[in-house]
Amino acid sequence: MTEFLRLDGVLVVGAGLAGLSAALAAAPRRTLVLSPVPLGEGCASSWAQGGMAAALSADDSPELHAADTLAAGAGLCDPEAVDILTREGPAAVRALAALGAPFDRRPGGGFAQSLEAAHSRARVARVGGDGAGAAIMKAVIAEVRRSPHIEIREGARVTALIQDHGGRILGALAWLGGRLIEIRAAATVLATGGLGGLYAVTTNPAAARGEGLALAWRVGAEIVDPEFVQFHPTALDVGIDPAPLATEALRGEGARLVNVSGAPVVDHPLADLAPRDVVARAIAAEIARGGRVFLDAREAVGDAFPREFPAVFAACRAAGLDPRMQLMPVAPAAHYHMGGIAADAHGRTTLVGLFAVGEVASSGVHGANRLASNSLLEAAVFGRRAGEAAREEIADGGRALEAAAAPELPSETLAELRRRMTADAGVRRDAAGLSRLIDWIGGAERAHGPALPLVAARLVAEAALARRESRGGHFRADFPDVYEHPAHTRLVLAKKARAA
Ligand SMILES: Cc1cc2nc3c(=O)[nH]c(=O)nc-3n(C[C@H](O)[C@H](O)[C@H](O)COP(=O)(O)OP(=O)(O)OC[C@H]3O[C@@H](n4cnc5c(N)ncnc54)[C@H](O)[C@@H]3O)c2cc1C
Repeated sequence: MTEFLRLDGVLVVGAGLAGLSAALAAAPRRTLVLSPVPLGEGCASSWAQGGMAAALSADDSPELHAADTLAAGAGLCDPEAVDILTREGPAAVRALAALGAPFDRRPGGGFAQSLEAAHSRARVARVGGDGAGAAIMKAVIAEVRRSPHIEIREGARVTALIQDHGGRILGALAWLGGRLIEIRAAATVLATGGLGGLYAVTTNPAAARGEGLALAWRVGAEIVDPEFVQFHPTALDVGIDPAPLATEALRGEGARLVNVSGAPVVDHPLADLAPRDVVARAIAAEIARGGRVFLDAREAVGDAFPREFPAVFAACRAAGLDPRMQLMPVAPAAHYHMGGIAADAHGRTTLVGLFAVGEVASSGVHGANRLASNSLLEAAVFGRRAGEAAREEIADGGRALEAAAAPELPSETLAELRRRMTADAGVRRDAAGLSRLIDWIGGAERAHGPALPLVAARLVAEAALARRESRGGHFRADFPDVYEHPAHTRLVLAKKARAA
C-alpha cells in the first residue's frame, strides 16, 4: 500500500551539489531532500577532481570565461545562460569558501587556480590538487545538516512524478526502505545528475542512469539535446566499474598514448594533447580495430607518480598495476551529459511545479560540449537560483492522475544495455549501430516495460540518429560534417503516448 506525505514546501530529488545548493537557497521554506544513499556518497559532485572554473584573478574576467564557454559549446550555448554562469561564478566560489570549502590559496590569500583544456586563463579553483568535489561537498553537507528548514531522507529513490490533469507536477512517488511513498510538494526539484551509468565504460557513479531525465520525459517535460554526451579519453581500463580517471594532467606532464606496438595513437598536430573528443575518437578507433591503448608515464612521471598523482596511483595499485614500471591500459569513458531537461535561468522546466538543476538539466550553458570544470559551477549557480524560485511556489490542491512506479530493469538486461550503449551510442556513432540499438531497446521495453534507464537510453539513441552531423561531443562516422546552422533537438512526449 502506498503511504502519503504532504509537504507544504520544496521536494529536492538528488543530493549532489545542485540539489543541496537548491535546498539551502529554498530557506526558510520547508524542504525535503531525497537521496538513495547516505549524503556525500554515490554522486558525481563528490568525485570531481579538478575544481570549479570562475574568473577570480586580476587577469581574468567573466567575459573571457564566457567566450571560452561559448567556443567549447560549438554554437549551441545560450549566451544569456552563459552570461549568468560566468558573472555569478566568482560569488558562488566565494560563498562555498565562506561555508568552509578549503580552496587552495596563493601566498597573498587569493585563490590558487589551475589551467585546464580550452580555458584561456588559469581559472579552476581547486582543493588539495585533485580533491575539490569531496571537500566542497563536505562543507555543503555540514551546512545542510545545520539548516533547520531541511529534512533529509536517505535510502529514497524516486520512481515517478505525480501530475494533475493540467500537466502541473504535484510531487513524486519514491521507494523508501521497500515502501512506496507518495510525496506531495509545492515544488519538485529534479537534481538527479547525469547518465554515464548507462554506458559500460564510464567515470560516473552507478546512480547516474538518466532517471531524472526519464521521469521528466514520461510526464511531458521538454528534453533538449539528449544526444550530446562528453567522453573522457583516458579512463583506466583495468576492470574497475566505474572506471577511474587517468587525468589529462598526466599527458600534460609528458605521458604518451601508445598502441600494443608502442606506436603513437593520435594523428593530430597537438598529438596526445589534442582536444578531448579527437583523442577519444583516436583511442576508440584503435580499440574498434581490435587493438589496445596504453598511457605510458614511466619516463615522464616515473618515481614521482605516488606524490604527483595520488588518486590515479591508488586506482592503479587497486588493479594490481604499478604505473612507475608498467603501462596503464586506457579507454574512452562516458563522463558528462550536456543535454537534459529544458530549464530556464531559475531552473523552471516546461511543466508548472517542476524544476531541474545540475547535470540533469539543460540550462543552456554547455551547448554541444562542456568546458572543463564548468559543471560544478553550474550546479552551484543554478542550484541557488532554482531553490530561490522553488520556495515561492504555492501548493496546488489539484487532483492527481494515478501514478505508478516505473518497472525495474533486471541486472543482466541493464548490463547488456550498457554494453550496447558503449558500442553503438558511444564515441563514434553511425546509422546502422544506432538503429540496431534502438531496435534492441524496443525489445527490452516490450519485455520489461518502460524502465527508466531504457527510456533515457532511447532518448539519447533516437536523438543521435536524427542528428545527421558531427558537433561537439556527438560524432557521426557517416555524417562527419557540421550543419551550416546550429540547431537544438527539442523533444516532448505526445500526450496520447503519456496516457497509454
Ligand atoms: C570522476 C569525475 C570527475 C569530475 N570532475 C569535475 C571537475 O573537476 N569539475 C567540474 O566542474 N565537474 C566535474 N565533473 C562533473 C561534475 O562532478 C558533475 O557534473 C556535477 O557534480 C553534477 O552535479 P549534480 O548535483 O547535478 O549531480 P550529482 O552530484 O551526480 O548528484 C545526483 C544525485 O541524484 C541522486 N539520484 C539519481 N537518481 C535518483 C532518483 N531516481 N531518486 C533520487 N535520487 C536520485 C544521486 O544518488 C545523487 O545523489 C566530474 C565528474 C566525474 C564523474
